[in-house]
This record gives sequence, C-alpha cells and structure tokens, in this order.
Amino acid sequence: MFDLTIRRGTVVTPETIAIADLGIRDGKIAAIEPTLPAGREDFDATDLLVLPGGVDSHVHVDQAFSSGAQIADDFASGSASALAGGTTTILSFVMQPRGGSLQQAAAQQHKLSERSRCDHSFHLTITDPTPEVLEQELPALIAQGHRSIKIFMANASTRLTDAQILPVLAAARTYGALVCIHAEHHELIEWLTQRLLALGHTAPKALAMAKPMIVEREATHRIIALAEALDTPLQIFHVSGHDSAEEVARAQQRGVKVWAETCAQYFVLTEKDLDRPGMEGAKFMFAPPARSTEDQQDLWQRIQDGTITIVSSDHSPLNFNDPKGKLFAGENAPFSKIPNGVPGLAARLPIVYTRGVHEGRIPLRTFVDLVSSNPARLFGLYPQKGAIAVGSDADLVLWNPQQPRTLRNEDMHHGPDHTPFDGLETVGVPVRTYLRGALAFDGSQVLSQPGDGRFLARPAYDYIAPSGHFPAGFNPYA
Ligand SMILES: [Zn+2]
Repeated sequence: MFDLTIRRGTVVTPETIAIADLGIRDGKIAAIEPTLPAGREDFDATDLLVLPGGVDSHVHVDQAFSSGAQIADDFASGSASALAGGTTTILSFVMQPRGGSLQQAAAQQHKLSERSRCDHSFHLTITDPTPEVLEQELPALIAQGHRSIKIFMANASTRLTDAQILPVLAAARTYGALVCIHAEHHELIEWLTQRLLALGHTAPKALAMAKPMIVEREATHRIIALAEALDTPLQIFHVSGHDSAEEVARAQQRGVKVWAETCAQYFVLTEKDLDRPGMEGAKFMFAPPARSTEDQQDLWQRIQDGTITIVSSDHSPLNFNDPKGKLFAGENAPFSKIPNGVPGLAARLPIVYTRGVHEGRIPLRTFVDLVSSNPARLFGLYPQKGAIAVGSDADLVLWNPQQPRTLRNEDMHHGPDHTPFDGLETVGVPVRTYLRGALAFDGSQVLSQPGDGRFLARPAYDYIAPSGHFPAGFNPYA
C-alpha cells in the first residue's frame, strides 16, 4: 500500500520521459510503473509533467549585510518561495565574519535554518582564512557534511587576495570540498567606481560601467589558473555572458575540472533595466550585472554545448520601500551605496522553462538537468535529490507546461516587497510541490511549515574528485 500515488503524469526519470504512475511510501519513491494500485491518497496528474523538485544551489536567506541593509527573507519565507516555485532543496550560505569563527557562524546558521520549510544545506563562505580556520575549523565542518566553500574575489568586506585564495584552494582539495567563486576584479571595480562618482555618474545604471564584463572575464581567467595549478575543482558562480563563459569553455577543453552556473535573471534582464526612471533601477541591481541580449543568446549556446550546467537564482532579496532596503543609504544614494541582489527563488523554474523549453532552446531533459539534477550531482546530493528514481526522496513538482502566467510579486510567496520579474510573461506553472511525499505547495498556498525542512549533510563524493594533474610539474600535496 502506498501513502500516495501520482497517476498518469508524464514522468521525467534519469532514463526516460514517459507516462507512468508513481508510488510513494515513507517519503521515498517506492515504485514507477505503467499502472499502480491506488494509494491512501491518489492524485491524477494527466497532462502534467512530473519532475524532480528543483535544487537551487545559490540562495541567500537569513544572511546579515555588513552595510546596515537587511535581507528580506529568513529561512521560513525564503523556503516558502522555493516551494511555491517548485524548488524543494536550497543551498544557502554560512558567512564567516572577518576576524571571527567559521564554526560559530555555521552554528548560528544551523539554528536559523531550523525554520526552513524545505530541505537545505550550506556553502561555507570564508572571508578570513587564518591557519586556525583552514587547519581546524574547516576540516571539522567539511567532515560534518559542509562540502562546499564560497570565496569572493571582489567586495571590500568579503573578498580574498590571491595570496589568501591559494591556501583555501589547497585546503579544499586536501579535505574534499568544492570551491565556488564570485569572480570579479576587486581593484578595477574600485578604480572605475571612483572615476564614475567623480564624473557625476551616480545613478543605478552606472553599476554596469563599474562592473563591466572585463572585470568578470579577468577574474574568471585568473581563478581558473590558480585552481588549475593547485588541481582544485571549482565552480564559477553567476557567469553573466559571453566572455566569462568562453574562459570556462577553454579551461574545460584542456581538462580542468571547472563547472559554471548562470542565473535565471541573466536570461530576461539586461543592463538597460538599470536605466529605469528615478531609482527604479535599484530593483535590477545585482552583481555581476545583467548584460546584453547578445550575451543572453551566448549563455543559451553555452548551455546547449554543455559549458554551463546549472541555473540557480542567486536569490538575494532586499525591500524597496524600506529604510533597511535598497535605499538604506538615502533616497538618492549613489549606486555604490545601493546593495546588490534580487529575489528569484520562485521565478527560476518558470523563467528557465519559458525561455528554454517553451521557446525551443533546450529539451525538457536539459531543463531538468539545469534546475535539479546537475546541482544535485555537483553538490553531492544525487540521487537522493535531483532524480525521480526508486529510493530517491519523493521531492516532486507537478508542472503544467501549457499554462501561461504573468509573474506578479504575490505569486512569489517571498519576503521582499517587489520582484524584478513583475509583469514577465511566462508559460509553465508549478501546480503542486511535494517534499518527501508531503504536499508542500498546492498551487496557491504553501502548506509546509517552518521546521518541516531538513539539513542535508553531504558526505564525501566522487563527482568532485581532483584530476591528479599538476601543471607545476610536481605534486605539492605529496
Ligand atoms: Zn550570491
């Protein structure tokens, strides 16, 4: 007897796409067959796609900004937005304060995440790689299942110098964690920003000139070279367009273990959105900034050729009409004092489905890989997450592939008072989301409660094993 059967949906499994019945027992997928007996509950999914729940591997919730601005989602509201958008697993961030303990930061984040409604795991953001952090705290945290590290190459309060990055890369390889990079050239951004302000370019649209593609391309090239030299696998976060994607492709062609994600906003926003009237452009500020329509096409090509394998949200919400929001530094604050970040958890699947599958750029299988299976693989969660297979968690999204929808803030079920995707025409709607077999979102209400989500400890996994190739000609770890 199954707890739940989901019948006659078009089920995307790792092997096939076919109409089938799913039987769910004790939160797991127990059977996938052409027909199954009725369960205690029975749902008719005729004309719906049955997909593995989304895995969003780049999400900021409950995270303090050093500036005094405040993030507009905690674990309870951020995870509600995830479920309303068909995502059942999020990877968010532990942020080491400069001069502070990474372990204490992790303990605090675990406490906050007890309110999560969906399953979750963490990246460890290292901002101060002291010997104590790298030799004691980090190995202990990795052993507890935190198998990924984030480092910033830009941002005064978080960035590491190359001299600091090298020992982090070495420690990640030694203890078995994947390094994820925010790749931008810090000093160049600072210099361009000072020049822009001196010349009176203070509006939000100046962000695109302060952080042009060249700052991303240079840093992407440099971090790949450093990681290649140390044989440390890495992922480049938020690849925004042609040039940095090209750097990733060149490295992959010479056998470097480097992966790349882009984010849904890069497919539908451009730098022109920063130039909206008044301070509206602040709603479209994130880093790296959105680029051109040509870059959007290049990103799709890099998905088609396999260079970019993940689309995340980089969900990082701030309110607009709020003294602690986007304009916390004043109604006419210069762009350099406006915090970057946009919400996107609930908009991710609809955007990628619309522009990808509905408009014919990618097949359904690639969509599932981009938003669910590949992030699960890269971050050591597969096939518990990211797959519809017997034994996998029954994390499912039932998707109406025909239904048009104009995105509105109220559909996002998130904390912030706006979405940069307001008014966006999409096709494809999550009509039900299940978390470990329990109905978590019914198409209008989030039913999963704070605390229903679980922490996912990630044990060692082969997918991110180093290549064993040392360009310097000797094994520095021997
Ligand atoms: Zn981010």
